Amino acid sequence: MNPIKVIVAGPRGKMGSEALRMIEKDQSFELVACIDRKNDGVKVKDIEGLPSLDARIYTDAENCLASVEADVLVDLTTPENGYKHTKLAIENKIRPVVGTTGFTEEQLDELSALCKEREIGCVIAPNFAVGAVLMMQFSKWAAKHFPDVEIIEKHHDQKLDAPSGTAIKTAQLIKEEREAHKQGHQDEDETIEGARGAEFDGMRIHSMRLPGLVAHQEVIFGGLGQTLTIKHDSINRESFMSGVKLASERVMDLDVLVYGLEHLLD
Ligand code: NAP
Repeated sequence: MNPIKVIVAGPRGKMGSEALRMIEKDQSFELVACIDRKNDGVKVKDIEGLPSLDARIYTDAENCLASVEADVLVDLTTPENGYKHTKLAIENKIRPVVGTTGFTEEQLDELSALCKEREIGCVIAPNFAVGAVLMMQFSKWAAKHFPDVEIIEKHHDQKLDAPSGTAIKTAQLIKEEREAHKQGHQDEDETIEGARGAEFDGMRIHSMRLPGLVAHQEVIFGGLGQTLTIKHDSINRESFMSGVKLASERVMDLDVLVYGLEHLLD
C-alpha cells in the first residue's frame, strides 16, 4: 500500500517535532511538506533538531495546501492558525487531523458543516493520548453515580488556552450524564476572584500552569463518605503519537468531521 502523504503544520513545536519523529520511523507515512512561520523553502533535514526528512517548508499555508499533493494535514499549532489551516485543508480536499486545542463551538460547527458539504473526513482530538481518552470515558461512567465533581488540569506554562480542551471535553461528557446543579455551598463567597475555578454547567474546572509539567488531569468525584479520583498523566509527548497515527490512518475512510479520539477506538 502507498504511504499516506502528510503535511505537518507546526514542525518546530513540541508536538509537531514529535509528529515528525513518528513519521520518520513509520513506513506507512510520507512527509510531503511542512507549514511553519519561518524557514520558507528550507528542507526539514536542514533545521537543527529536526529529523532527516527531505520535505520542503512553506510559510504560506494557502500556497502549500493548494499546490502540494497530500492526503492528510496534521495541525499542531495555535488555535487561530490551526482553525485557518483546517479550513484551507478541507477546501483543498486534504483531510485534517487536528491536535491543536482551543477551537470555539462555532468554529467546530462551521468546520463540521464544511466537511459534510465537501464529503471529506476530518479528526479533531483535544487529546491524542489513549489513556486520557479512557480517563474521559471512565469519568462519564462515574458521573452517573457521583453527580458532584471537580476537574483539575495541569499543563506546562507555555500552553495558550485554559481550561484545556481535554478538561472541557471531560466536562461535556459528564454533563451528558448528570443533572445540572450548582456545587458547593449556596452562599459560597470567593474572597479572591477565581478561587473556585471556572464554572461549567455547575461544576468547577481548575487550570494549573507550571514549568516541568506536560499534560495531567484529575477528575475528582465526591459522594457521601467517599471520593473517587480518576487521574491521567502524559509523561512525555510520545504519549500522543499513537493517537496521531491512528487518526491519520482512520481519517482516510471518513467523510465527516469526528471530534474526539474515542470515536475511533472501537
Ligand atoms: P508549541 O511547542 O508552542 O508549538 C506550536 C508551534 O506552532 C510553534 O513551533 C509555532 O511557531 C508554530 N506555529 C504558530 N503559528 C503557526 C503558523 N501560522 N504556521 C505554522 N506554524 C505555526 O506548542 P505544542 O505544545 O507543540 O502544542 C501545539 C498545539 O497542540 C497546542 O494547541 C496544544 O494545546 C496542542 N496539544 C494537543 C495535544 C493533543 O493530544 N491533542 C497534546 C498536546 C498539545 P513559533 O514557535 O514560531 O511560534
